[in-house]
Parts: sequence; C-alpha cells; structure tokens
Amino acid sequence: MVRTRGGKDNWVLPPDAGVPLGDDGVQLKEEEGETAATVMAAAAVAAPRVEIAVDFDKSLLDCPLCSLPLKPPVFQCPAKHVACGPCAESQANKCPACDGAYERDEGADRYLLAVRVPCPNQAYGCGSSLVYCMVSDHRLVCPHAPCRCPEPGCGFLGPPPALRGHLAECHQWQVTDIAYGSVLEVQMQALEQGRRLLAAEDGERLFLLVASERGVKVVRVSAAAEEEGPAASWYRCKVWVHAPVDTDTGHMDVVMLDAKGSCAVPSEEAAMGAGGRCLSVPSVVPAPEGGGIVLRLRIDKEVKASRSPRPRG
Ligand SMILES: [Zn+2]
Ligand SMILES: [Zn+2]
Ligand SMILES: [Zn+2]
Ligand SMILES: [Zn+2]
Repeated sequence: MVRTRGGKDNWVLPPDAGVPLGDDGVQLKEEEGETAATVMAAAAVAAPRVEIAVDFDKSLLDCPLCSLPLKPPVFQCPAKHVACGPCAESQANKCPACDGAYERDEGADRYLLAVRVPCPNQAYGCGSSLVYCMVSDHRLVCPHAPCRCPEPGCGFLGPPPALRGHLAECHQWQVTDIAYGSVLEVQMQALEQGRRLLAAEDGERLFLLVASERGVKVVRVSAAAEEEGPAASWYRCKVWVHAPVDTDTGHMDVVMLDAKGSCAVPSEEAAMGAGGRCLSVPSVVPAPEGGGIVLRLRIDKEVKASRSPRPRG
C-alpha cells in the first residue's frame, strides 16, 4: 500500500528529474555493496560548485514508502515511482504501486547529493552545510547538538560550553576545571550527594561525575553519540578511591572506566542510564576530615587511530 501525498495516488519524480545536473562527467559507481558513502566519494571529485539558494518541496526528497530522506542508491520503476534502497529491497524489488520492477536511478542520486541544507543545529553554532540525505548521520556526531538543562522547570538548551555557563550562573552548579592526564581530587560531602560538572581544558568538552548509592560514574555530556573527523577522540577515565589494602590480595580498589558513555542531559538518572561502568565504592573507605568521601579521577584524551566506515543504516 502506497501512502498518498497531496491527493495523488502515489508519488513520482518530475519528468526531468533523471537529467543529470551539471556537466562534470562524474561516473557514479555501480556495483554491489554500493553505499551513499561510495557515491559521495565519487561525487566529491566533481567540478567546483556554484551554489544558489532555492526553496524545495521537502516531500520530493523523501522516500514515498518510508518517508525517510531518499539516500543513494535510489530506485525507480518504469512508471517513475521511486523508492529508497531498503524499501526497494523490502518490496522484493517490485513497485507496490504498479508492480513494475525497480531499477537504479543514477540521475536521482546525482541531484539528491547536490541538495544541501544547513545543519539543524545552526542556531546552536554549527556552521556545517550538509547533503540533505546525510543530515541524520551528521546529527549523531554534531558537536553543537544541544544538551538540556536538568533543573526542573528550566527549558534551557545549548551546546556543552553554553550549558556549562548556564548551570554555573543560573543554578549555581559547581564546575571543576580539569586538565587531561592530571589527577583530580574531588571531595564530596556524602556519597549520595550527587554530581560534579567537570569542564575540560579545551573549553569544549564537559563531563559529569555522579555519585549515588549505585556507585560512581563519569560520562561525557554530549548530545552527539560519538565524535567525528580526523581528530575524533575517545576518553578514558580512571576513577578510584583510597580503600584500605585488602590483606588477602594486597590490592587497593581501583576501577578503570571508559568515559564512552554520553548523555544529553547532565543528570544522575541520565548518566546512570548511559553506557559505561560504575565504580561501586566499598563501605570501608575511610572518610576524610569533615566527612564525605574523596574520589580521585583522571581523564585521558586519546585520538582515534582510524575510523571504520559507518555501516549504512
Ligand atoms: Zn524508503
Ligand atoms: Zn511503480
Ligand atoms: Zn552540526
Ligand atoms: Zn537551567
């Protein structure tokens, strides 16, 4: 069953949509396992772009079957009904509107890859210009994706550096500056006391240290699931307490945590729900003068050696 749009039975590309835009002689790769990334790579060698701003009917850029942005490789039947790759596959390569067999539509690929939009986080400082059908990929890694203030009743949204300022100024959160690779000693009044915002030396990254009955955890405060680009980093976090030496093993309790978990809202609940492990603090840890607990932590930043290509999703 094909969803109807604007009263039409189904949706077709305009008759001239298959005409390649421009004349740069780029041949799109046509092989099994072709992905948007390989098509993008082929298009990247195109002649210099001349860009104009246009208003465009968004529905022409989305798959009529699943409503997601049409991403190369695009398919169409002889009656010009289009479908995205996953939909063509799920329909056994047969158009549900007319039963025609789907074929690749390189012309549509070409123009879809030429449609660029500003990042949806432009208002939060992202200046990226994105191929429309790749916006969702960028969203996963956009460093300007806004994080939400966890204070009840406050609707503030902002990228991590702005959130840091907001929490410190508007909600009197304690913010501790950290230098990568240096040991930080944090005294919390009680283990259940909650949280400490840690601001990294680069001025960009925020981490949240939370302590609760469930244990201690450090997560990155970010609405982006991972980082992108040649300088993409991961963070290794070591958190420990000076517990009495175990008389049997001679070991102190030290736990290594990967700060790979991230949460878009710096709250205890979100942090505990994020990926990564928790350090459970043994009850025998001696309290410092004045009570509470002293945690020691060190965050190391390491640049990813290489990045495996993201599987098409
Ligand atoms: Zn689709
Ligand atoms: Zn059809
Ligand atoms: Zn962005
Ligand atoms: Zn707030």
